[in-house]
Amino acid sequence: MRFGIDGIMKHANISIFVPHKGCPNNCSFCNQKAISGQTVPATEKDVFAAVNTALAYNCDPKNTEIAFFGGSFTAIEREQMVSLLTAAKCLLDKYGFEGIRVSTRPDFIDDEVLSVLKKYGVTSIELGAQSMDDEVLRLNTRGHTAEDVRRASGLIKKHGFSLGLQMMTGLYGSDFEKDYFTAREIIALRPDTVRIYPTVVLKNTYLATLFEKGEYLPPNAEETAPFAARLLTEFQNDGIKVIKLGLHSSEAVESDMVAGAYHPAFREMCEGYIFLEKIEEKLKLKDKKRQYTVFVPKKSLSKAKGLNKRNEKALKNQGYYCKIKGNEFLDGFEIEVEEINDIKVAYNAGL
Ligand code: SF4
Repeated sequence: MRFGIDGIMKHANISIFVPHKGCPNNCSFCNQKAISGQTVPATEKDVFAAVNTALAYNCDPKNTEIAFFGGSFTAIEREQMVSLLTAAKCLLDKYGFEGIRVSTRPDFIDDEVLSVLKKYGVTSIELGAQSMDDEVLRLNTRGHTAEDVRRASGLIKKHGFSLGLQMMTGLYGSDFEKDYFTAREIIALRPDTVRIYPTVVLKNTYLATLFEKGEYLPPNAEETAPFAARLLTEFQNDGIKVIKLGLHSSEAVESDMVAGAYHPAFREMCEGYIFLEKIEEKLKLKDKKRQYTVFVPKKSLSKAKGLNKRNEKALKNQGYYCKIKGNEFLDGFEIEVEEINDIKVAYNAGL
C-alpha cells in the first residue's frame, strides 16, 4: 500500500491511491502502475493505516483532507467505493478532518453517485478533463467529450462540492494553441482548483508506441515551461488556484518515462519564467547604464534567480546590471527595483 502526506505545515492531503481498478478505459497516456507505484487496490484497512500514520506525524486534521487519487473513483465497484468511503467518513467524524477528496472521470458523474458521495462526507471532486478539444480527446482514447466535462462540472457545483479540474498539455494531436483553448474553457467552468499535467510518455502506453514509431514527439520540459507559466498566470489572474503543476516526481515515473515534459522541479521552472518576465517588465524603462537591486519575496529568491541562476544570466545578457535579493515584506510575484548608486556603470569597471 502506498500513500502520501503532502504539505504538513498548511493544507495537506492524505493521499490514498486507487489505481486503474474499475476503469473501463485505456487512455493513451495512462499507466496507473507507474503513476501510483502500486497495482493492488486500496482497502478499508489501507485508509485506516494511512490516516493513523499521518496522525503519528502530527498532521493537523482541520487542515487535512483524506484524498482518493489515481483512478476513476466513481467507476470502481460500488461495494469497494462505499467501503473506502465508510472508513474515510468514520475517520472524518472521529478526528474532524477538513474533508474527503476524490478524483474521477467526467462520464462517471450523475445525480445518484453525487448523492452517495455527499452522504459519506465527500467535499471535493476532481475531474480529469485533460482536454476540451473533442478531437484530442478522441485521439487519446479518453472515452468522453468536452461536453461531458461541462455537464459533470455543472452537476458537481449544483450539489455543493468543491470542483477541481485536471488538464494536460502536449497530448497526441494537440498543440499549445489547443491547450490554451482548454485552459480558457476550464476557466469558464469556474473550478475551485486546477491541476496542470504536461504529458509525460510512460512505458507500456499507447503514447509510447506512437513515440517509438516516430508518430508523436511531445514537447519536453524546457519547451513546455514558458507555456505552462503562461497558463499558471492566466488561472491565477482569474482567481483559480493551481494546486499542481507537473507530474509528481517519483522513482516509478523516472524509471518508466520515455519522453515528454518531466522535471522534478517543474513548477519552480515555470515560476522562474514568471519572475523573469515580471523583472524584465520592471526594468524595461530603466537606464541600462546604471546598476539596480531587484527585490523579490524572500521565500521565492531561488525561483526568481531561476534554475542554475538562468534569470540572472538572461538579464545580464540583455545588458542589465542587477542583483536579485530577497525581501521579507514582498509576497507572490511582487517585485521592487531600486537603483543602488548614481554612478554610471560605464564608469564603474568590474560591475
Ligand atoms: S480514465 Fe484514468 S485510470 Fe482510466 S485509463 Fe484513463 S487515465 Fe487511466
